[in-house]
Amino acid sequence: MQVVSEGKRLGFTTVGITTVDPFQEWGGQLQTWLQREYQGAMAWMGRNADRRIDIAKVLAGARTIITCTLNYYTPHTQTDDPLRGRISRYAWGDDYHDVMLPRLKELLDFLFALDPSAEGLAYVDTGPVMEKPWAARAGLGWQGKHTNLIDPQRGSWFFIGEIITTLSQEFYPSQPPLTKGRSLCGKCTACIDICPTRAIIAPYLLDARRCISYLTIEHPGPIPEDLRPLMGNHIYGCDLCQEVCPWNRFATPTPEQAFQPREGNLNPALIDLMYLTDPEFNHRFQGSPIKRIKRRRLLRNVAVALGNSKNPRAIPALQHALNDPELLIREHAAWALETIAQHGSLALQLVDPRV
Ligand code: SF4
Ligand code: SF4
Repeated sequence: MQVVSEGKRLGFTTVGITTVDPFQEWGGQLQTWLQREYQGAMAWMGRNADRRIDIAKVLAGARTIITCTLNYYTPHTQTDDPLRGRISRYAWGDDYHDVMLPRLKELLDFLFALDPSAEGLAYVDTGPVMEKPWAARAGLGWQGKHTNLIDPQRGSWFFIGEIITTLSQEFYPSQPPLTKGRSLCGKCTACIDICPTRAIIAPYLLDARRCISYLTIEHPGPIPEDLRPLMGNHIYGCDLCQEVCPWNRFATPTPEQAFQPREGNLNPALIDLMYLTDPEFNHRFQGSPIKRIKRRRLLRNVAVALGNSKNPRAIPALQHALNDPELLIREHAAWALETIAQHGSLALQLVDPRV
């Protein structure tokens, strides 16, 4: 199969192809999910709902969708030190968009060379595409109870990108699928049990508004106060539900150097991060996915993590943040100081010398 072998030559881990028939059952589920507002502030999900269900609305004449995955697993472990932050594994190294998109475009050019009349578009979560259901339909795995895609031979530590094309299924010789998309979760509930914020409100159903990944990355404003104490030291994303997933025992290290942890990204010192200026933030996170959330959201998250540490050593950094030009950071720093103060009289004295 030329397209699959070319995709593998370009470094993709798996490549699957499926037709673009609209997802009728998925459409209903997506609409219900949106009506319940589980998408939180990700308003674009509602705006593009019809295009997410019907890919022909994204590219006129679309007939097939090629899903490519890229393994990002690097076998490093993080410490549980509350004064050090936890960053999602996928963001330890370089920005995956920069790694995947040029390769998808190369694969697209390969298709155009095979059939110059073909049209196509490439996406890495940059377009209105429900990548996980498409990948499942292409036979690359199933969506687990935590809603991530699981490959039965490799686990779930991979990125997903797609190419939408006008080429018909007949253009590609058939290939045996890895799975038929059916769930192999069985009776396991490990991901549901571990979730600190109870974001997986039922098997296969995620309330994004409660998910730490959403709260630390997508959510633009103040983090709801009732959820802050549950976030621990997670400052960018959360991997807990994937870490406990038994299928990830099949994960193997990625050969991609780009996804190796950058210096300081495994367990950054939270107190140091709290002093980052805008230019320092831009310099430190240049070419990293973390740059996308900007300093404002990162320091908001760091303040919450420092509050959760309940460690008086965090107080000077948080007091420094009380003068930050960003109201969002000041407000979260004040919450963190109060949290530490409530935890012990020593901390209280440090916050307010009158005590
Ligand atoms: S990423 Fe974390 S917060 Fe979100 S569902 Fe998984 S365990 Fe829960
Ligand atoms: S932890 Fe268990 S229930 Fe959750 S996705 Fe993995 S196998 Fe499925």
